[in-house]
Order: sequence, then structure tokens, then C-alpha cells
Amino acid sequence: MQPSRAAPKEAARPIYLDNAATTCTDGRVASLIHEMLCEEYGNPSSLHNMGLRAERRVAAARRQVASLAGCREEEVYFTSGATEANNLALIGAARAKARRGRRIVTSQIEHASVLSALDSLAADGFDIVKIPPRSDGTVDPEAFAEAVDEGTVLASCMLVNNETGALCDVADIAGRCKAKNPQLLFHCDGVQALGKVPFSFKKLPVDLMSFSGHKLFAPKGIGALVVKKGARLLPLLYGGKQQGGLRPGTENTAYIAGMGLACELARQEFSARLAQMERLHDHLLKKIAETPQLCSNSPLKCAPNIVNLSVPGIRSETMLHFLEGRGIYVSSASACTKGAKSHVLAAMGLPDRLVDSALRLSFSPDITEEDLDLTIAALCEGASSLARA
Ligand code: PMP
Repeated sequence: MQPSRAAPKEAARPIYLDNAATTCTDGRVASLIHEMLCEEYGNPSSLHNMGLRAERRVAAARRQVASLAGCREEEVYFTSGATEANNLALIGAARAKARRGRRIVTSQIEHASVLSALDSLAADGFDIVKIPPRSDGTVDPEAFAEAVDEGTVLASCMLVNNETGALCDVADIAGRCKAKNPQLLFHCDGVQALGKVPFSFKKLPVDLMSFSGHKLFAPKGIGALVVKKGARLLPLLYGGKQQGGLRPGTENTAYIAGMGLACELARQEFSARLAQMERLHDHLLKKIAETPQLCSNSPLKCAPNIVNLSVPGIRSETMLHFLEGRGIYVSSASACTKGAKSHVLAAMGLPDRLVDSALRLSFSPDITEEDLDLTIAALCEGASSLARA
């Protein structure tokens, strides 16, 4: 059930609560990657049997990703990560649809790789509408769809927010958008949802969905974009005919195989991992409620592996380093916005004292209730000693 990892070198095991930023690579995935790099290193485009074997490995990984995401294997395009997948989806779709209209609707809680890609489209003359979240961090389907008009070519909303864990009702949001304008393409950033919460691409009225391997015990630098059959995108890169020309370049066969296996393991172990996350989530929320120095910023409707909390009066970074000194690793806002104030918590309308003291704790299946108790104790210790200082 648990990702297998090498024994930590230190005597005391670190309590790693930053799994929404990145995860360790599962030992089984690392072994497969090693085998791919050293033995099965053929180029999938080569005509000899080493090439053929590499091509089969890529096809197998595509099936494994498709099986976890609930899409068809031919809809999976491997990328260098979700930043590329989000850019390809949004810029590729906007360019393909530019003659039909110039309006794009999204939410204010999206990841920087969505918001910045859309900013680049704004500079090219697209009109970007960013819908604020509700005060609990979720997106209101009615308010989102309200912004869609006849000239809207694209809409994008994430399934799970990476900072708060807020679960957006993408089925309802995308359904309403498509009812208003059946021509638009709907993109969903599914990075924090894959393997964490149940969903199926084919049951969602969405056309494009992005994933990243390193949130799921595969390495950094591999991801995938799912493109519904019939949705037309223009590529961002030009080159060979790999992946139908939509994402040319020699496939990263080792990491593709690794992401495939990580998806397969996440599928097989889904229920056990989910049950463990739910236990941890309930335990942590109960502890936060009992601790006057802490308050939770995560909504009731949220993914079970992420909790955002504040320690009013103590700056996030100060507390982060205090915890680090005790072998506990957490995040302030998201790792990708390093040091910057959380645009997500600010958009939720949280007062500055909560935004400035926010921390994100994100679990993996090998975290225990005892780890969380130690973390709460360290937070309380930090709250009193840092406040005095
Ligand atoms: N979207 C979300 C919601 C994320 O959390 C991340 C990673 N922080 C990304 C996109 C970017 O993924 P990658 O690191 O694979 O580029």
C-alpha cells in the first residue's frame, strides 16, 4: 500500500508534509527507470527491435495513465510536466480557436502555470476573465458559467486546488459552460487530483486535462496532457512526428515508463491510500479544532491529502524554518510561488494575518497520526517561543 522508499540516512525519520510540492520517487518506479536507462534505452522511432520494445513500453505507460485517469490511451500525450501540459492545452487551444473568438474564462485560484500562460495570451489580444472563488476557496459553478458568452473559446478550472485542497465541482462548472457555448474547449488542471480523489475523464464534460508525475511518486520532469478525441490544438513545439506532432521530440521513455508504473500503483492502491489520507485529514482537523493557536483555512469540500492552516501572529516562513529545525517539512503557500503571498488565500478574502501565517501540510500514505501529533506539538511550541521572540 505504501510507496516503497529507501531507508532515510538520519537516525530520526523526517516528517515530510510537503507532498503537494513533490513526492519521493517510489522505489519500484526508480528500479524500472534504472532498467529503462541502462537496458531498454532504444528510441521508440527506431525501426529495429530495440526501438520496437521502447515503443511498446511507451504504449504500455499510456495505457496505465489512461486507466487511472479514465480516458482512452490514444488521448494521452506525454510532456515534460504539468507546466508544459497546461501551456500546451491553453496556448494550443487558444491559437487553434483564435478566429472564433477571443474570450477565455478561468478562476483566480489556478496554478501559476495556468495563470501565467493565460497572461501571455492576454498580451496576444485575448480577453481573460478570472472568476474569484467563494470564501471557502471553491469555485461557484453559476458565477463561472455566467462569464461564458458566444465569443468564449476556452475555459479552465482546476479539480483540486494545490494550496487549500479545495475540490471544485468541475462536472457542474464545465457542464454549465458547455450548455451556454457548446463550441468552447474546457481545460482542467488535474495535477493534485490524479490518484488522490476519484474522477474519470470520460465522465467529465472536459476536453483537456493536465497531470504531473512527481505528485504521484514518479520523478520530476514528466507529465501528461489528455486531449479528448476531436479537440484540436496547435503544437507549441515543431519537430518530428512523435506523439502525432502535437508534442514532438524523442520520448523520455524512462520517465514515461516510470509515470506509467506510478499510475498503475496509484490505481491498485487507490482505496488503501485514500482511506489513510482520510484518517489523517480527520485526525489533523480534530487536532486543529482543539488547538486555540491554530485555525484551518481548508474548506469542508476538499481533497483529503491537503490541509491549509494558519498560526496567527507568526509569519509562514518563520514557522516553516522553526519546524524544519525539528525535522518537519511543510510549505508556505505553494512551492511554485516561493516566498510570495498566496494569491489563492487572498482571493478567498482571508484577512492578512491569516494569509501571512498560512502553512500547507500535505500527506503521503506513510505519514502516521503520531507524525501529525508531533507536528501539532511543534506548531504550539513554535507559536509560543516565536511570539515571545
Ligand atoms: N498545476 C498544479 C495544480 C500544481 O500543483 C503544479 C505543481 N506545483 C503544476 C500545475 C505544475 O506541475 P509541474 O511541476 O509538473 O510543472
